[in-house]
Amino acid sequence: MKNLRLAALNGGPRSRVDVSGVTFGEGVVVMAGPCSIETEAQTIETALAVKAAGGDMLRGGAFKPRTSPYSFQGLGLGGLKLLAKARAETGLPIVTEVIDPRDVTWVAEFADMLQIGTRNMQNFALLKEVGRCGRPVLLKRGMYSTLEEWLNCAEYILSEGNPDVVLCERGIRTFERYTRNTLDLSAVPAIKELSHLPIVIDPTHSTGRVSLIAPMTLAAVAAGADGLLIEVHNNPQKALCDADQALTPRQFTRLMKQLRPLSKLMEDLTDHKVDQSGHGSKAQEGGS
Ligand code: PEP
Ligand code: MN
Repeated sequence: MKNLRLAALNGGPRSRVDVSGVTFGEGVVVMAGPCSIETEAQTIETALAVKAAGGDMLRGGAFKPRTSPYSFQGLGLGGLKLLAKARAETGLPIVTEVIDPRDVTWVAEFADMLQIGTRNMQNFALLKEVGRCGRPVLLKRGMYSTLEEWLNCAEYILSEGNPDVVLCERGIRTFERYTRNTLDLSAVPAIKELSHLPIVIDPTHSTGRVSLIAPMTLAAVAAGADGLLIEVHNNPQKALCDADQALTPRQFTRLMKQLRPLSKLMEDLTDHKVDQSGHGSKAQEGGS
């Protein structure tokens, strides 16, 4: 791909992105939490559940890019304060979306990682701003975008001097209507061929259905994803945003119990070179 001066793999090493002690590019990083921050009780209860289940980071929107201007738009500053409180109680770093270039500097004072949502992937003013904010960025794929367009958007952030970009595949628009979007899982190995940047999967917005989240999460781990972004709500029926796709703490806990052993198995498999006869031999042992 032309013009990917900084995002391309070019035979170089894979990037690791540190977010307040959590490292993308080493095992599977799980970010989980509500779609939007609603109340203190909702935020803290959900954060404690994410932590107890073994999640690595807390997600939650204080600024929500909604299809309708009349839908709940998020709590703004109040939401960021609740996220900071949840971080203080759980120790989980927080990732939250920023939708306006004018807000980047002060939102970065609260967040450990800034999220650029699918609708803003090609908001170049916003990309340039987060490229100068000194915080790692989670860059979601535009729902109508090719891998090349997506990587060029990462390039915008990198070229402003911010090396800490993590890509997030969250489903693309196809003719299918049963699922909210179509999860392009091939983006994981494809991005790994093209770029050194870590890539995570959002099984929540890509499927829009609770029943499909666990299978697609496990498939993402098997495909080699560096992490997951999963919506969890302490009481999904009462959620102000994306109620149909949030896992309960119980469902999330069950999923984490499947995810961690699978992730360990994938690490063991990639540590082993499987020779032509099909017998594995540890790469580090030299396979003499
Ligand atoms: C989100 O993760 O909160 C979100 C709004 O996702 P997307 O931008 O992928 O729709
Ligand atoms: Mn959501």
